[in-house]
Amino acid sequence: MDFTRRDFIRSSLLIGSSFLLSPVSGLSGQRKDADWIPAYEKLEMEGKLAQRIKQAYALFENCQLCPRKCGVDRNKGVKGFCRAPLKPVIFSYHPHFGEEMSLVGGKGSGTIFFSNCNLRCIFCQNWPISHEGKGKEIQDEDLADMMLHLQKMGCHNINLVTPTHVMPNILNATRIALKKGLHIPLVYNTSGYERLEILKILDGVVDIYLPDMKYMDGDKAKKYSAGASDYPEVTKKAILEMHRQVGVLKLDNQGIALRGLMIRHLVMPNRVAGTEKFVKWIAESLPKSTYVNIMAQYRVEYKAYDHPEIARGITSQEFLEAMDWAEKFGLTNLDPQSVAIRNVYQRRRSN
Ligand code: SF4
Repeated sequence: MDFTRRDFIRSSLLIGSSFLLSPVSGLSGQRKDADWIPAYEKLEMEGKLAQRIKQAYALFENCQLCPRKCGVDRNKGVKGFCRAPLKPVIFSYHPHFGEEMSLVGGKGSGTIFFSNCNLRCIFCQNWPISHEGKGKEIQDEDLADMMLHLQKMGCHNINLVTPTHVMPNILNATRIALKKGLHIPLVYNTSGYERLEILKILDGVVDIYLPDMKYMDGDKAKKYSAGASDYPEVTKKAILEMHRQVGVLKLDNQGIALRGLMIRHLVMPNRVAGTEKFVKWIAESLPKSTYVNIMAQYRVEYKAYDHPEIARGITSQEFLEAMDWAEKFGLTNLDPQSVAIRNVYQRRRSN
């Protein structure tokens, strides 16, 4: 029997459901801000969304969708650094309960995992998806159906993981889904390695930007992210632009994210991620109330075993110094889970 689109959607949901944790009780999927509408819906009402899609799709001819600027013609199936074909490849999609609490709520973040990646870090935790491109190629209409399924399941948002190389498809799918009733925030969950010109196309489409800030030192980025020595400078500019577009994080009256910037920073062993410089930069460049998630979950994956500097997990001391720096530079909106981890480590240290 042929494996149809519908079969793929069903099986992806089954794959996804195996990762589910228990939902947080007390937060329903109902949005309380009745007047709220997603950014992309406003843009459609202004008659601008179709033009953005056209503008985005034109980029495939001489692909410059990301700072790698390969210049390949993806319309003809030529693959660049990210190895992505013209159509999106999806590994799985499902309600995800492992994201930030304001994205997860009671019904989960509607996460769609895109295969392939334009950064290709050697410690990637999703390397079979990002490096090897495991997944199934689909049409934009299928992507729209997935968004609608996730909304129907009660998810609080559509969380697009590694979206950069398929941005035009995402825009097109969003418009198709909008016409069929999509009405939840779009989360752009990116490595942060984004071109300003591309982000301008997304202005007024994306509700929540969720970028990483992986390194502050170009040499580390070059070594661990496939030669991307410009990562710190490019990503700093990208984050400032994201903030200009969506501002600081806004929640509804149940604590669910509606709009804004949420920055992730993974603490790495031996201060590889440059955490002190990172929090200092945030404090000096953005409001101190910017939402920052200082993450403790680095683990040795893929080719990280070959590099002694990153071939171990972080110590509790490394995480505590990261959180101390955030406090020292006055950041006021740290992810509650990182604060909880810090409190546990502090209690253990004092016992
Ligand atoms: S999206 Fe892929 S093909 Fe396009 S510039 Fe980036 S790495 Fe190259």
